[in-house]
Amino acid sequence: MELRVLGANGTYPTAGHPAAGYLLSHDGTRVWIDAGAGSLIALQDLMDPADLDAVIVSHIHADHSSDLFPAYHYLRFGPTPRSGLPLFVPEGAAQRMTAYVDPDGGTFASTFDVRVPAAGEAYPVGALAFRFDRADHPVPTLLVRAEAEGRSLAYSADTGTDCDLVGLAAGANTLLCEATFQGVDKPAPHHLTAREAGEIAHRAGVERLILTHVLPTLDPKQSIEEAAAGFGGDVMAAAPGLEVLI
Ligand SMILES: [Zn+2]
Repeated sequence: MELRVLGANGTYPTAGHPAAGYLLSHDGTRVWIDAGAGSLIALQDLMDPADLDAVIVSHIHADHSSDLFPAYHYLRFGPTPRSGLPLFVPEGAAQRMTAYVDPDGGTFASTFDVRVPAAGEAYPVGALAFRFDRADHPVPTLLVRAEAEGRSLAYSADTGTDCDLVGLAAGANTLLCEATFQGVDKPAPHHLTAREAGEIAHRAGVERLILTHVLPTLDPKQSIEEAAAGFGGDVMAAAPGLEVLI
């Protein structure tokens, strides 16, 4: 599997740094995971979004979902119109998205084949297989695990510690984990500090930890140091253009 970071900013985009967005590829299958602001443009540098095999939007918060709206326009009015693109979202998200972009109903539902995954079930998408669980966040939010040919990636989306991210990520080759904050004081309980991300990676027994969703005002090098103290393994920070083999 190849993971390409489109954007990794926590909460809002800054110049050249989209909010959350990732392209996961394996053997010709390509899945866009999270559609934060700016990530659709970064995706278009790599591929025609009409050729995606699926989209996963972990939750409705704008730093993970807002580029789904221009993507909806692109798929309808772009050079290669596409319908029926599988879209994995938590419960309630599709209704809110439809109310925003397609209040009369019909075209959103035909552009995207909306799927609300159940925890623990396996969902094959081409050469990839996904599993999901529920994150600790104020709105329904998906934890994501992808597997292919014995390799595995777990993604925290946005979450606090009150969920089974350790279980979802158990034994994964790579954990892509939010690390919104540094230090020990959390201004919001439903996110993680870098130290907490490191401790979760340690407990899950993953090989590599990639920090993401760091607040744009923080220095990722400090986040790496704090996470490494809790993990003890290989830690890096996600940034636009980063590509790693899982
Ligand atoms: Zn977020």
